[in-house]
Amino acid sequence: MTSQLRIGNIIFVVGFVASIVIRIPYDKVSQKTPINESRKDVLEKIVLSFMVVGLLILPGLSFAGLLSFAGYRATPGACTVGTSLMAVSLWVFHRSHADLGRNWSVSLEIREGHSLVTGGIYRYLRHPMYTSIYLMAIAQAFLISNWLAGPAAIITFTLMFLSRLGREERMMLDRFGPAYEAYRRTTKRLVPWVW
Ligand code: SAH
Repeated sequence: MTSQLRIGNIIFVVGFVASIVIRIPYDKVSQKTPINESRKDVLEKIVLSFMVVGLLILPGLSFAGLLSFAGYRATPGACTVGTSLMAVSLWVFHRSHADLGRNWSVSLEIREGHSLVTGGIYRYLRHPMYTSIYLMAIAQAFLISNWLAGPAAIITFTLMFLSRLGREERMMLDRFGPAYEAYRRTTKRLVPWVW
């Protein structure tokens, strides 16, 4: 393992741990806030577990040297791009949690007293948290020089995103009706001004 490759791995681990730390206070509030409606079905549980494989298990196996057959040489450029993407991802991850506050859930759930958030970063995007997870997944591909562990989270998060997007917006429409309809008309999904 070259030292460059180790640096990429370390930056990925630091970023991943930072994302968990950012989430801890919101997770505590979420656990205390009763759920009014849950659409967490088997599909949701499967795609959430895929995320563990992409973000945790495959990187872990590669750090343990078990995927070395798929390894390649790291470059300083890739490490720099990955670090920058990770930094932006963590900022967007933090902002989206702060703006959603007690309305945040790890899954498809409506909490007691749930309000529709349209301000802060949600003024520009309907799914900034998913934008941040995509950025982290792309950062992972640049930071981990392994053809299996690097792109793993892009694939697993794409599966989760595809299974969730329509169902989440349907749930929000059912709950907030015209208010969410109007909000949908004035915002993009993942990429500001684009989509
Ligand atoms: N898709 C959003 C939120 C992810 S967390 C994002 O990427 O930023 C998922 C939960 O957030 C959903 O179950 C829903 O209950 C809640 N949620 C999503 N958008 C919301 C909004 N604009 N206002 C309030 N709650 C929202």
